[in-house]
Amino acid sequence: MGETPRPQGQQPDDVYATAAMRAAAPSAGFPEVGMGSGTAYALVRDEMLLDGVARMNLATFCTTWVTPEARSIMDEALVKNIVDKDEYPQTSEMEARCVRMLAELWHAPSPETTVGTSTTGSSEAAMLCGLAAKFRWRERMRRAGRPADRPNFVCGPVQVCWEKFARYFDVEMRRIPLEDDRYVMTPGEIAPHCDENTIMVVANFGQTYTGLYEDVATMGEVLDLLEQERGLDIPLHVDAASGGFLAPFTAPELEWDFRVGRVKSVNASGHKSGLAPIGVGWAIWREAADLPEELVFNVSYLGGTMPTFNLNFSRPGGQVIAQYYDFIRLGRDGYRGVQSALYDAAAHLAQGIASFGLFDVIHGGRPDQGIAAVCWRLRSEQNFNLYALADRLRTRGWLVPAYPLAENRQDVVVQRALVRHGFSFDTAEMLLEDIQRSLEHLTHHPAVLTFEEAGSFSHNGHPAVAPPHR
Ligand SMILES: *Cc1c(COP(=O)(O)O)cnc(C)c1O
Repeated sequence: MGETPRPQGQQPDDVYATAAMRAAAPSAGFPEVGMGSGTAYALVRDEMLLDGVARMNLATFCTTWVTPEARSIMDEALVKNIVDKDEYPQTSEMEARCVRMLAELWHAPSPETTVGTSTTGSSEAAMLCGLAAKFRWRERMRRAGRPADRPNFVCGPVQVCWEKFARYFDVEMRRIPLEDDRYVMTPGEIAPHCDENTIMVVANFGQTYTGLYEDVATMGEVLDLLEQERGLDIPLHVDAASGGFLAPFTAPELEWDFRVGRVKSVNASGHKSGLAPIGVGWAIWREAADLPEELVFNVSYLGGTMPTFNLNFSRPGGQVIAQYYDFIRLGRDGYRGVQSALYDAAAHLAQGIASFGLFDVIHGGRPDQGIAAVCWRLRSEQNFNLYALADRLRTRGWLVPAYPLAENRQDVVVQRALVRHGFSFDTAEMLLEDIQRSLEHLTHHPAVLTFEEAGSFSHNGHPAVAPPHR
């Protein structure tokens, strides 16, 4: 049998033979004409080849591994808009269940009646909790007949979302600079920075730069004393972006949550150690009264009336449903299993890094000291620096960022690896072997790079070695 002759002018049925594939991908003006859906799909998939392998990106705190069921949930929930509580009442119900579960997990005095919301991430949750603190403070000042136009908050080296909160909502940020080998905000330094215009102190429970926890319980005591001595009643907000889903399972004795009376609100990222897919965070208040009513809007145009307290209106529901799925799939016991395995892998990685003899480990992934991560610095001057090491590791596909610490210790350059769901002992072994290989290379080819030189640059000018804000 011979081949069926192809009609004149017809292309073979292969996506790479289509006309659209014989030109560069559209990149400037809005395309005049389209292309077949199969071709467009192949084109964007190929574009994505140049993105890194998510699970080898040890810079990110976010979920890079989910179960097949979580993928199905995301697919099935694609059209669900979480704000539309009338059309999707059960999505809304699952969100409310998650809020109660988290309120209980974080020891709110009455988890059944307190308030909270899902958000797009910890950043939005931080804005909401910061706004609630600002509104509570303003009301208190008004009642006392005091001016309420110069609010401030006190914090240590925080994630960029708090700088955004300060700028977007016009609140002065009083960031306590680092000193010597103190890489976090310690309770003893807080009081001198506080005054009657301080709307809150933001404690970092899982610091972005090093992964270390701040001592929330002692901060509470310090603020109690401040009230006794100077009459200043200043609440604590805890940024538990990563720590909020770790410590309850792996360091339950640590008191960082609503067990500390001063803590009025907590934010956490469901899409970090909460294990949900990217796009969900949580804001929980101690009691309903801690969320000023003026911040909650009731809208009726989607049918029914529904309270909303979010910066967005429309927002995907799948991440929240997947979060609920995680909670009921794993329970406390399952989360303990997953997270303790991560700490074991982190400890193994830390041990390996220490064994090279070149590094000081700043955070070795102890569950009572910080999140499941390892952070280190060079012990002494070498013929290479950490930017060069990050650059070498990049050639094997690893993204292990090197960056300077915060204000006052920007002379200290650290490198950090997040250990997340899907990172096993074997992953640690592979990384250690590649660090070993890189160090050998660097002994023969000395390299001292700058932050900007480290890694390859993408064409939009962003450095490939990530700053710590991710
Ligand atoms: C990641 C992170 C944030 C920002 O959270 P998103 O969920 O990415 O918006 C805020 N604070 C800390 C401590 C973080 O680690």
